[in-house]
Amino acid sequence: MKRVVVVGGGIIGLAVAWELTRRGAAVTVLEKEAHWAAHQTGHNSNVVHAGLYYRPGSAKARMSVAGNRSIVDFARENGVPVEVCGKLVVATDESELPALAELARRAEANGVPARLISREEALEYEPEVSCVRALRVESTGIIDFPAICRALAGLLADKGADLRLSTPARGIRANRGVEVATGTEVIRADALVNCAGLQSDLIARLAGITPRARIVPFRGEYYTLRPDRSSLVRGLIYPVPDPALPFLGVHLTRMLDGSVHAGPNAVLALRREGYRWRDISPADLAGVARFPGTWRLARKYAFPTGLDEVRRSLSKRRFAASLARLVPAVGPDDIVRHGSGVRAQALLPDGSLVDDFLIETAPNQVHVLNAPSPAATSALEIARHVAGLESLR
Ligand SMILES: Cc1cc2nc3c(=O)[nH]c(=O)nc-3n(C[C@H](O)[C@H](O)[C@H](O)COP(=O)(O)OP(=O)(O)OC[C@H]3O[C@@H](n4cnc5c(N)ncnc54)[C@H](O)[C@@H]3O)c2cc1C
Repeated sequence: MKRVVVVGGGIIGLAVAWELTRRGAAVTVLEKEAHWAAHQTGHNSNVVHAGLYYRPGSAKARMSVAGNRSIVDFARENGVPVEVCGKLVVATDESELPALAELARRAEANGVPARLISREEALEYEPEVSCVRALRVESTGIIDFPAICRALAGLLADKGADLRLSTPARGIRANRGVEVATGTEVIRADALVNCAGLQSDLIARLAGITPRARIVPFRGEYYTLRPDRSSLVRGLIYPVPDPALPFLGVHLTRMLDGSVHAGPNAVLALRREGYRWRDISPADLAGVARFPGTWRLARKYAFPTGLDEVRRSLSKRRFAASLARLVPAVGPDDIVRHGSGVRAQALLPDGSLVDDFLIETAPNQVHVLNAPSPAATSALEIARHVAGLESLR
């Protein structure tokens, strides 16, 4: 029986562990925090994406369209709350119509059911929305990704997997097999899968791999609509995204409990797991500053995009103004801060952000080095792909 150590107990690590277990491997999962889904998976929008945004043929496109179905099926089979409620992408003025039409073409190319609708029809879905035209996407849903992780951990425990919380991988020696030092013991296995999210490039280095990309942490901050104003939004309302940026733009999302979340924005985090401006790591910052890609990225995006994002992060009024473009009735007094998440976004030395999922392999090793949104939606598909790789056979 093949023994595999998975580093990381987010949705990707647990999904990979489950897929490997189903295929007969003996799996150990190491998670440095005291509970599953402690970082990206537990701090996201909880949206099951449909797969319309991504370049046709890309891993993101394939795996999100398939993942949209597989994660919903998994949730239903395992008693995890999920609702396929659909969403609107809205063009708020005429200048956004070509990009909206392009999005509709992408949706079609990716096999995502979506249709362009008039302002009048959009108002039937969302009476408070402001738009000239919209794209209606039926297969988008809302889910509880941490509950998916708890379900995966339960299935793994039932099959006898070795699940270890509060157990960081601190050292890795890879030769014929792998040895992972946790500080209190050394775990020996035949193979390693690195699903460490925000730390994934560092774990790859520990294992002797020099990844092409470096993780840059982008924080996304959320507000929530005050309960007495949450009736302003019935479902999910998204702007037309800027095709030059990897993020979707601040949007309004009705959650499973009926509350409405607004966000996330995108600002550079000053620590890999930096959920607030005051979370600063000199070591992480030095690492980011030493990487040539950072400066090239800054030249491309710092002005005005980056600066505007920082201003909006610091000003509730500006944040509310972005939301008011979608739903004009939303004002600064209607929103309350509601935490943040940090995205692990891989950056190349030439300053370009890695657009697609990135997985690198070595003998007996697989490293998941870029799994940003929609990777939670795609988790079971990424897991199937990883488990089938030659390095783990
Ligand atoms: C703000 C935000 C909004 C998002 N919205 C959505 C959305 O609506 N839909 C969607 O599909 N996706 C969304 N995403 C993306 C999604 O959350 C991620 O793609 C997904 O959670 C990645 O899962 P992961 O397991 O790779 O990473 P993580 O969940 O970050 O898990 C990595 C784990 O590795 C552990 N780890 C790190 N180092 C070590 C070590 N040395 N030893 C042991 N353990 C270690 C960490 O503690 C962590 O628990 C969003 C992300 C963010 C940040």
